[in-house]
Amino acid sequence: MERTLSIIKPDGVAKGLIGEVIKRFEKNGLKIVAMKMIYISKKEAEWFYAVHRGKNFFDSVTDFMSSGPCVVMVLEGPKAITKNRELMGATNPKDAAPGTIRREFASSIERNIVHGSDAPETAAFEIGYFFNALEICG
Ligand code: GDP
Repeated sequence: MERTLSIIKPDGVAKGLIGEVIKRFEKNGLKIVAMKMIYISKKEAEWFYAVHRGKNFFDSVTDFMSSGPCVVMVLEGPKAITKNRELMGATNPKDAAPGTIRREFASSIERNIVHGSDAPETAAFEIGYFFNALEICG
């Protein structure tokens, strides 16, 4: 059993895709054990994407992440990190496999609907960033 952090980004919420994304998780063995809708501030987005500080898209992506409400979730299941990344597809929707969330719904490499942790260490950091132990119903 593994846990991962998922975010439906502001574009996914604005496009009315919350239900569509959640349906894909639940159909594919990923159980939601925590969930909330929040506004991420610019400062919080800068912390969250600190690994990208200095890159040419840092300012733009942190503006985007703080531009509207997001839905943040903890997903649990066998190989949850890899499974979620498979369902999401590649960062750039042009490279994402057919049938993936990003291929079907993303409008650009930046506005790509969903976030998912990429490794166990980042999952632990990201889950702890948004949820305390009492908020996770595992
Ligand atoms: P992810 O793990 O697939 O989300 O990709 P990364 O960790 O590499 O990038 C984090 C987020 O920054 C992506 O999901 C995009 O929203 C954004 N991003 C990544 N690369 C680019 C880029 O080249 N240009 C722009 N504008 N945004 C990018």
